[in-house]
Amino acid sequence: MNKFEQLGLNEQLLKAINDMGFETPSEVQEKAIPVLLANETDMVALAQTGTGKTAAFGFPMIQKIDVNSRTTQGLILSPTRELCLQIANELKLYSKHIPSLNVAAIYGGASISEQARQVKRGAQIVVATPGRMKDMISRRMVDISKIEYCVLDEADEMLNMGFYEDISEILSHTPKEKNTWLFSATMPKEVARIAKKFMKEPQEITVGTKNSAAENVQHEYYVVGGRDRYLALKRLADTNPDIFSVVFCRTKRDTQKVAERLIEDGYNAGALHGDLSQNQRDIVMKAFRAKQIQMLVATDVAARGIDVDDITHVINYQLPDEIETYTHRSGRTGRAGKSGISMVIITKSELRKIHSIERIIQQKFETKKIPTADEICEIQLYHLASKIKNTEVNQEVENYLPAVNDVLEGIDREELIKKMVSVEFGRFVEYYKKAGDINVSANGSPQDFSSEGKVRYFINVGSRDGYDWMVLKDFLREQLQLGKDDIFKVDVKESFSFFNTNAEHSEAVLQMFSEFKMDGRFINVEISKNTRGGGGSRRKGGGGNKRGKNKGFGEKRFGKKGGKGNFSGGGKRRSRKKF
Ligand code: AMP
Repeated sequence: MNKFEQLGLNEQLLKAINDMGFETPSEVQEKAIPVLLANETDMVALAQTGTGKTAAFGFPMIQKIDVNSRTTQGLILSPTRELCLQIANELKLYSKHIPSLNVAAIYGGASISEQARQVKRGAQIVVATPGRMKDMISRRMVDISKIEYCVLDEADEMLNMGFYEDISEILSHTPKEKNTWLFSATMPKEVARIAKKFMKEPQEITVGTKNSAAENVQHEYYVVGGRDRYLALKRLADTNPDIFSVVFCRTKRDTQKVAERLIEDGYNAGALHGDLSQNQRDIVMKAFRAKQIQMLVATDVAARGIDVDDITHVINYQLPDEIETYTHRSGRTGRAGKSGISMVIITKSELRKIHSIERIIQQKFETKKIPTADEICEIQLYHLASKIKNTEVNQEVENYLPAVNDVLEGIDREELIKKMVSVEFGRFVEYYKKAGDINVSANGSPQDFSSEGKVRYFINVGSRDGYDWMVLKDFLREQLQLGKDDIFKVDVKESFSFFNTNAEHSEAVLQMFSEFKMDGRFINVEISKNTRGGGGSRRKGGGGNKRGKNKGFGEKRFGKKGGKGNFSGGGKRRSRKKF
């Protein structure tokens, strides 16, 4: 019997679960499903997006609904149109083998009469945003007077968006006797107030610690001068050629400006904010999902409900006004059992905010330095070399080879490599040649920035081999028999990575990997040219040279689709089970 069967789910759901490739229930599913199936109860569940919470309420709701009746029995309220559609789509997948179950999605910005038709068809479950729901109730297009199950999803976000009145109004049209299940990532006072007002002795479940961010997200901050924010952002992008990220700005204007500058500088970027039309936003989101956009610059409001699972980095270009919002931002990465990095670019005067955030997320930040020009160039070089190595030869080029050979006649391999790299790399080096260090020392910060006594290594494995920073750190610690903090500053790129140790371990590291073979392949470790994170004196820097549009470095490099449905992770060597 697999673990889903043990939860008490019926045949049709188990079949759908199997079709979707879910292997084990997530923590919130394990905790919520048996309780909701066996009892008529209210529930408050503290769980982040990406923990599998849709299925945690979706499976029991589907199983409990009487599909022979066409009355609306389940109502799910969610904060945004994106989330609403996502939930409706998930529910359709879950109920794939229950043909008589109908789900209707109700949200603003689309034809209300079409949505009314969907409901009339006999939707037993309605998924709605509060605004449109209220509208449809007042026009008598939907009847929720007989619902038995009501879910308030992402309750904290709904309240943040000012939906308290709407929710109260909507719930006043529902019967007193019903089960209400509230899901929220955090439990601020307002959510507790809702729970108290609308629920009776709710069962409480918590996934992870209360109010804490996902533990598989690493939090980092970088201290720079206020005017160097944009340069810092660029450098962070350049050190992560495979980045797939959301960059948060505080205002719509900054969001637009930063996105425009990035595009102008040759990055695959896009803007998402409230001044864009729904159609424009849909286009941007579509491009982001397809990974044609690697850096989605967004406001907090517009980014709500972004349901993309494999975001590698969240970059806080500016910290949010309300520091609680940081939890939502960083929760956009580290989803679906993957790990992620949340970076904060701050000025010295904002440092104290970091400490307040640490208290909220109950996790420590790592102080990091914006990589120097040398480091970035090194990473880009390795990236280029591995890109060349891994490029599949296009058969079309065969026809042109004789002519190419003629031109390159007499140049030996060594020379050819040098020239080729110079062609591709020259522009990059040129830009960074003039760029100085933009880090500002953060006096009183707990971390030591100096590189003294530390060694940085290059290792020829990366994310394409199934590593992320946690897995690589675990792997190195295991091989080298080192303690938790002995391996640090682990940066995983697509086909290579970097890590640090204190100098005392360097001999052991090099020794261990001198002839190290795994799966028939040599794992090679070398001391990196740049020995830290950081160093050098402070200079205002960053030349104005533009990179060619969408050319060369930082190019879109995503071809593979990450497998979904296996929550024990994407890589074969993953040692951590998240779900
Ligand atoms: P959610 O937290 O509901 O937004 O879920 C995040 C993603 O995880 C969705 O794409 C789900 O399809 C997927 N998912 C949910 N439960 C599981 C599971 N037990 N195993 C694998 N994937 C899951």
